Amino acid sequence: MNGTYQQQYLKEIGITVWSERESVSIEDTPSDIKHVTEKNKPLCKELGQELSHLANQVEACDQCELHKSRTQTVFGVGNKNSDWLIVGEAPGADEDLKGEPFVGRAGKLLNAMLFSMGLQRQEVFIANILKCRPPKNRDPKLEEVETCEKYLKQQIELIQPKIILALGRIAAQNLLKTDTPIGKMRGNSYLYPNSNLPVVVTYHPAYLLRSPTEKRKVWEDLKLAKNIFRESA
Ligand code: URA
Repeated sequence: MNGTYQQQYLKEIGITVWSERESVSIEDTPSDIKHVTEKNKPLCKELGQELSHLANQVEACDQCELHKSRTQTVFGVGNKNSDWLIVGEAPGADEDLKGEPFVGRAGKLLNAMLFSMGLQRQEVFIANILKCRPPKNRDPKLEEVETCEKYLKQQIELIQPKIILALGRIAAQNLLKTDTPIGKMRGNSYLYPNSNLPVVVTYHPAYLLRSPTEKRKVWEDLKLAKNIFRESA
């Protein structure tokens, strides 16, 4: 990624870039969390096969009404070996067409959020609570979430991330089985049920596009996530 591109990314989420420094400098970023490199887990052939098998199951899924209106399923994308799992709500129109999560405007902002943590999109794994687009982007129904959650659960079991970043209320509440408002959840880390896997909650990038004044809070959440990841490593 060239420098101009980097600067555009950071500017988009309201982060100041000081051009004198050799590396990208991020306002308020403690130096020890910059450019944290992830430990490389060995790439496992079976993991790839098992995830492909699961993706095929998702592709054939007709267990809720969303299969009737979808163009295609959106399984998830990224590094199957990643320590980072990013979880959103459900595919939107762009994602339904492309078969990939977070490819629209919110996706561009998500890329910027990741970049601000020293992560490239292709380094993490990105998935959603629902694998099919709800018509007109309405909120997922309880029965849809309940039907679909086995797929995300298996993704988590296979990928074995070290941390989950939950984007938005729907992702946070469904991952953590709570109805606590997202504003009250952010700022702390939680454990994915029946596990030691930390979950950090932040606002959804689509919300951030509508409410850019919340970017500072998101930046705090991303710093928290990076610190928790570093502690767990
Ligand atoms: N919003 C989401 O929550 N997920 C996507 O994949 C796209 C937009």
